[in-house]
Amino acid sequence: MSHVLTLNAGSSTLKFGLFTAAQDPNPLCTGLIDHIGGAATLSLKDSQDKTLSRGDLAQGSAENHDGALQVALAEIGTQFPEAIITAVGHRVVHGGVDFCDPINVTGKVLEDLDKLVALAPLHQPHNLAGIRSSISAFPQAKQIACFDTAFHRQHPFVNDTYALPREYYDKGVRRYGFHGLSYDYISGKLAEIAPVLHAGRVVVAHLGNGASMCALVKGQSIASTMGFSSLDGIAMGTRTGQLDPGVMLYLMDHEAMTHDEISDLLYKQSGLLGMSGVSNDMRELLASENPQAYEAIDYFCCRIQRELGSLAAAIGGLDALVFTGGIGENAAKIRERVCAGMEWIGIEFDNARNTAGVEVVSTSASRVQVMVVPTNEELVIARAASAAVAG
Ligand code: ADP
Repeated sequence: MSHVLTLNAGSSTLKFGLFTAAQDPNPLCTGLIDHIGGAATLSLKDSQDKTLSRGDLAQGSAENHDGALQVALAEIGTQFPEAIITAVGHRVVHGGVDFCDPINVTGKVLEDLDKLVALAPLHQPHNLAGIRSSISAFPQAKQIACFDTAFHRQHPFVNDTYALPREYYDKGVRRYGFHGLSYDYISGKLAEIAPVLHAGRVVVAHLGNGASMCALVKGQSIASTMGFSSLDGIAMGTRTGQLDPGVMLYLMDHEAMTHDEISDLLYKQSGLLGMSGVSNDMRELLASENPQAYEAIDYFCCRIQRELGSLAAAIGGLDALVFTGGIGENAAKIRERVCAGMEWIGIEFDNARNTAGVEVVSTSASRVQVMVVPTNEELVIARAASAAVAG
């Protein structure tokens, strides 16, 4: 039987998954190599979330993405010696204006994707490094790139542009939106489990370390809180979310900060971490007694409420709100805080359901249904890679 591998290469991480190649791929395992280039670790779990292996890697074995991929492949080879990998699906953060669907990576495609590094300098180079490593490791396999921006490419012009002179739009300065693989998965899942809501107006809140929200009508993305870069919208673990561009001019003029310093501030030192001074991790913030941790959580939730109002306006109302991502799926307190006081929009929250770990966390009478739906970006990639195998 043929198999597909999914790869999601971040700055110091490599997430991977092995699936059967099928229209509905079966997961065999998912893994993570963390701290690439440093004290790297590996964890591998089977489809039931049972740990297959876990531990520190020998020094130097995952010094870069090439090394990390070799470690991942060796581990998969040990655990699943019968696996025959015929396609590798890659998460690629930016597909620019042109890449709207998963694509077979050729030399020309790789060249085009290289040109998009300027649009996502912190993520795209790692994604492309993962593709290059994979081409070396599997020269015979199809390499399929799946884009986080693709799901949003049909946005109406008003949600795709900034009020800059038109020439910048034409040069690609647009509101791209991200987390598209996650929204694609949630949209498909809703069609299965709640077809009436799927046919209506839905806002999905993908709340993880990176966080964004997306407004769907009939399962299609109409607007997103993220824009040109993955900085916009709601506050994140270490990213600012929406920020008055005047702040950046001020930082350059009055704090004499360089491009690299500002980039580091906006992407790595801000958000929940910067506001709290405690952590970027929601679990630690919820457990902290530091008042700044509380303020950071409060800001995070208030901005989600504001964006919910804004996105509902963009789609003419709201039939459902879906929480997903590490925080959205697991942090009952955050869901409760976000939904508190949102009766005006039609939400009647049911906190007993919320803490019981069920799918619907609003009352039966609530006009807007509030749901918790775990995302599965790897499965979206595995489906695309499987489709490529099937031709
Ligand atoms: P990434 O964007 O890196 O994929 P995840 O979707 O894995 O992020 O989400 C990570 C976030 O989810 C962290 O802030 C983490 O604290 C939070 N999280 C995970 N489990 C829980 C939990 N049980 N309660 C509260 N927060 C949680």
